[in-house]
Amino acid sequence: MKRRPKEHEEQEEHEGEHAQQLRAVEVGRVTRGESAVTQSKPVAATGEIQQREHRHQRHGDDGRDHQSDHDAHGCHEGNAIRGRELAACSSQSWEQVTGNTQDLPVHSRDMPGLDRLPLLPSYFQEPFTADETKVLERFFTNTTEPVFALVNLPEVVKGALFARYSRSPKSLRRLFLDEFYEASGVGISLISAGTAGAEEGVRLQRAEDLYERVFTQYGDDSVAQLGGVHLACEQASNVLTKVLEWGRIASYLEQSTRYMFYDQRLGDRYRYAVPPEVADSVLAAEFAATMDSLFGAYGDLTGRLTAYYRDLHPQTPGDSDFVYRATLRARVCDDLRGLLPAATVSNVGIYASGQAYEALLLRMRAHPLAEVRGYSDLMLAELNKVIPAFLKRVERPERGGVWSRYLASTAAAMQDIAAGHTQAAAERGQVTLIEWDPEAELKIAAAALYRYTDLPDDALLQWARDLDGAALDTVFRAYVGDRSNRRHKPGRAMERTGYRFDILCDYGIFRDLQRHRMLTTEWQRLGTSHGYLTPEAIVDIGGRAAWDEAMGAAAALHGRLTDELGPEVAQYAVPLAYRIRFFMQLDAREALHLLELRTGEGGHSGYRRVCQEMHRLIRDVAGHTRIADAMRFVDHNDYGLGRLGTERRAAAKRAAAGVVEPEE
Ligand SMILES: Cc1cc2nc3c(=O)[nH]c(=O)nc-3n(C[C@H](O)[C@H](O)[C@H](O)COP(=O)(O)OP(=O)(O)OC[C@H]3O[C@@H](n4cnc5c(N)ncnc54)[C@H](O)[C@@H]3O)c2cc1C
Repeated sequence: MKRRPKEHEEQEEHEGEHAQQLRAVEVGRVTRGESAVTQSKPVAATGEIQQREHRHQRHGDDGRDHQSDHDAHGCHEGNAIRGRELAACSSQSWEQVTGNTQDLPVHSRDMPGLDRLPLLPSYFQEPFTADETKVLERFFTNTTEPVFALVNLPEVVKGALFARYSRSPKSLRRLFLDEFYEASGVGISLISAGTAGAEEGVRLQRAEDLYERVFTQYGDDSVAQLGGVHLACEQASNVLTKVLEWGRIASYLEQSTRYMFYDQRLGDRYRYAVPPEVADSVLAAEFAATMDSLFGAYGDLTGRLTAYYRDLHPQTPGDSDFVYRATLRARVCDDLRGLLPAATVSNVGIYASGQAYEALLLRMRAHPLAEVRGYSDLMLAELNKVIPAFLKRVERPERGGVWSRYLASTAAAMQDIAAGHTQAAAERGQVTLIEWDPEAELKIAAAALYRYTDLPDDALLQWARDLDGAALDTVFRAYVGDRSNRRHKPGRAMERTGYRFDILCDYGIFRDLQRHRMLTTEWQRLGTSHGYLTPEAIVDIGGRAAWDEAMGAAAALHGRLTDELGPEVAQYAVPLAYRIRFFMQLDAREALHLLELRTGEGGHSGYRRVCQEMHRLIRDVAGHTRIADAMRFVDHNDYGLGRLGTERRAAAKRAAAGVVEPEE
């Protein structure tokens, strides 16, 4: 296999991962192939005979169907033969066959001899009439294979179909034809008849009726996990985006602060939200004036900061204008984002299930801020156009109403208790390791062995406690393996232990780290009492006074908002340079993922430093050197223009694909 050029690193990583997975799969097939020849052949043959009989009954001797019968039969026969051929070479691994452990082929078709392997175990191909096939083709991506996707169906119908699926001996396509397509009154044939305009409402109502019928018979809460919606929430303040992104089981993408200068206006205003509480108050004018001054300072410093970085890191001949400009812009934006207030608006894309949206809306409806509650109404209205059945409980006073009140009342009760805790905390560094397990490495070793033995968990822990350092090293080396890129991750034994960190860093960094979901994090209310950070470059260009002035104005506004409207609303005034306290509690596997990802060369220098420190604490304070060493892609280097490598790789990919360099 040819070596790929270096600039295809990302792709190479994916491909390496794929090849490794593939190898595992092929070895599995080899074993299955062997036993298929000695034990399973009659079963496969019976399946083929049944299949041929079905087809024969269905189609008679018409030439076209005969031809497809022949193809299908040939294919199965071919698979069976390939299974037997496989047995001849099945006892050898890929390395034994080729003597090659390096250049594993990426696709099975590239592996010598593998064209003789069966690609699938033989399976029963379900018979459908020509009419049925015509119907199915509109809603399923194929009608012949055991794997297929559902298309052109309302989300709630997909949920209902799956709900019924779990309790039926029928295949999904058969179930669809027998119980859904022609169901009297609400069948899919009716639902799919209309497509646009006024008929859309009728379609949805019928889908809803169908869902209700199935749900009351077969459903439980989890059916609402089976339909999803992409939803865009635009012009949401940074306070709101954190509420939107709180749930774990959903996918989010948020507008970045690195790819555009935020002094570009949206209409006639800078990009900030005026919270309804403020708009209605005596502080409305002062709020707008302070916001304008923050965005104004951002604009004033942009040119000077760009010139500063241009001098510090001149363009090299190999880099295009686009690559250089994009890199510089990211660097400048990274520094300037500290001036942006939490009121700054952002766009968030969410992909989530009905159940995730239900939980999100219930939380939002209990929230003290009007913007959050207002967006929950907007979201519910839009989601009701797509998945109303999944969200029915949200608005019912006796269900969602009580639920949201429960959330609000516990929050209020805790607020009262917290009011007594006003003492100041002692100064300390921005990352503190609060909790870890002295036996962490022993526990991981025991857990690593678990699935390869038949011993109880506690017996393995006892075994691990008796290991000496060298033996423990051996287990770690074997379990962590030879990771050639950060995507090669050790398994769930690394989840056997965890760390709890208390972090005090600027809101911008928090905003990035908060996006990780496979952990527990909670944050405190944003305020000004922990002070703010000033980027070194701002000091270097003589921008310190402007920075301090902007921070001071924001703090003054924050104080007045707190007095007038309370500390929740006052958060909107606080710039991202101010520090916020939050904790992250994560297992060692997520720590490996997060710390390697977030110390990468292209990341923001702020969160890179936090994550480098977390790694250091795991090694030096917890003393978990083996765990820290497993995280071999944590990058402790400093980079001047961190995005440069990423932009260069992107440019090389564009060039290789023949894509013209974008204008901006
Ligand atoms: C340099 C850099 C730039 C970035 N720029 C942006 C940006 O502009 N905008 C933006 O919104 N984000 C940005 N991100 C954040 C990034 O998109 C991720 O949201 C964030 O890093 C969380 O990582 P994660 O998905 O690995 O989550 P984690 O919670 O750490 O998840 C760990 C792993 O669990 C799995 N997982 C988690 N969630 C899901 C899911 N929903 N479905 C399937 N598997 C899942 C994945 O394997 C994931 O890697 C950036 C990150 C970096 C490092």
